[in-house]
Amino acid sequence: MIYNERGLSEETLMMRDVTRKFVNEHIIPFTRQNWQAEWSMKPEGRLPRKILDVAHEIGIRTLGVPEEYGGIALDPKSETLTFAVISEEISRGDCGIAEKMVQQWKVSVLLRNILPEHLKKIWFPKIMADSQFLLAHCLTEPRGASDRWLPYDVPEAMMHTKAVKKGDKWVINGRKQFISNGYDASLYVVYATTKPGAGMTKGTSCFLVPRETKGFSVARCNETLGGRFMNNGEMVFEDMEVPLDHCLVEDIALTKAGVYFRPGKIIQGSKNLGVGVRAYEETVKYVHDYVQGGKKLIKHQATAIRLAEMATKICTVRALLLEASRAVDAKAEDAEVLCNMVKMYASEAVLEVCKHAVELHGGNGMMLDFGIEKLYRDASMYLHMDGTVDVTKFKIVKNLFPETAGKYAGND
Ligand SMILES: Cc1cc2nc3c(=O)[nH]c(=O)nc-3n(C[C@H](O)[C@H](O)[C@H](O)COP(=O)(O)OP(=O)(O)OC[C@H]3O[C@@H](n4cnc5c(N)ncnc54)[C@H](O)[C@@H]3O)c2cc1C
Repeated sequence: MIYNERGLSEETLMMRDVTRKFVNEHIIPFTRQNWQAEWSMKPEGRLPRKILDVAHEIGIRTLGVPEEYGGIALDPKSETLTFAVISEEISRGDCGIAEKMVQQWKVSVLLRNILPEHLKKIWFPKIMADSQFLLAHCLTEPRGASDRWLPYDVPEAMMHTKAVKKGDKWVINGRKQFISNGYDASLYVVYATTKPGAGMTKGTSCFLVPRETKGFSVARCNETLGGRFMNNGEMVFEDMEVPLDHCLVEDIALTKAGVYFRPGKIIQGSKNLGVGVRAYEETVKYVHDYVQGGKKLIKHQATAIRLAEMATKICTVRALLLEASRAVDAKAEDAEVLCNMVKMYASEAVLEVCKHAVELHGGNGMMLDFGIEKLYRDASMYLHMDGTVDVTKFKIVKNLFPETAGKYAGND
């Protein structure tokens, strides 16, 4: 009952099954047998090439790439829902690998919408040709990403990364932090202030930045608590020059990136759900096997209470996710508020699920080689990905009461 297939299309189910096979045959065996790999201090050595090779072979690495360039065309009426279902699957195997993969889809969908034709002809074939080619989306800076999510649309909240047009080039200076795939991507979408003083939604542009651009450097790989296979990174731009046509959206980039943000929140919730599903599945096995006080754990009342809460929370997150995915695919008016509700509810509910999992595993739940504490660490990451929980709550109230809600930043 933990999986609900009602109303899923044949295409979505087929994509789920292919992904599930990949996860069961490649990701779970790899992470279980090599649990130390996530702690390697050489980020490039954490994940064997084989994982991305197989993801590429089965077509899930390049979802979002237009069909004419070799991507798999998903039914647009249920594209977001399909992304949701398969990102949950990958995350059930490992949420860092899921993060690696979903950045590909989210950035590909964005590029599909905003890249000029001549650049599509250059970049989509490159993305298709190399199984290790990764994409990254760079908004966050060392100061205050919440201002962008609210958005707190005043001059002092604008991004510190700046781009200035000089002749036939844009010159970019600044720094981005906390970027998924940031350490090892080949192509980046970078946001920078182009109209200082105009406010974030009117003065921020986005740029296409190939890794080999002069003036671009990766400062470090962030060593994260969970999701460690994502190789989250920090980038620096020093007098970095890109051609004029690499400015993909001038001044109103944050408005145009909506095509990225809504499915992004859904995928965020589903990756989060995948961690909870794994915690539930592992716990179900454990309580049917482990004997305490002369009987299997499942027979103890306290276990039943925890299991019931875990299962109900998972089903609730899934139901809200399905509702929100359908709203996004249908471009419905309530899509925005539902996406924010998913992000908020999933991050709190799944962390609770993982807490129950850790508790029901007793001391084993604390041991690195047992793999349960990893799920708790992984779940905690979602409190601060794609906006913090508190800021998401402000957004929900702003969505529900646009006329009367506060700005929740600066002076009202
Ligand atoms: C694992 C991971 C992956 C990420 N991947 C990416 C990525 O690929 N690309 C990208 O651009 N970013 C990425 N991020 C960044 C992420 O979106 C930000 O970390 C997040 O939005 C929070 O921003 P911040 O860290 O600047 O915190 P801040 O905005 O500085 O917030 C700090 C605290 O202040 C609170 N706060 C902020 N404003 C208000 C307010 N007005 N009222 C009350 N409380 C407030 C927040 O809720 C939080 O508790 C990632 C982050 C993580 C952890």
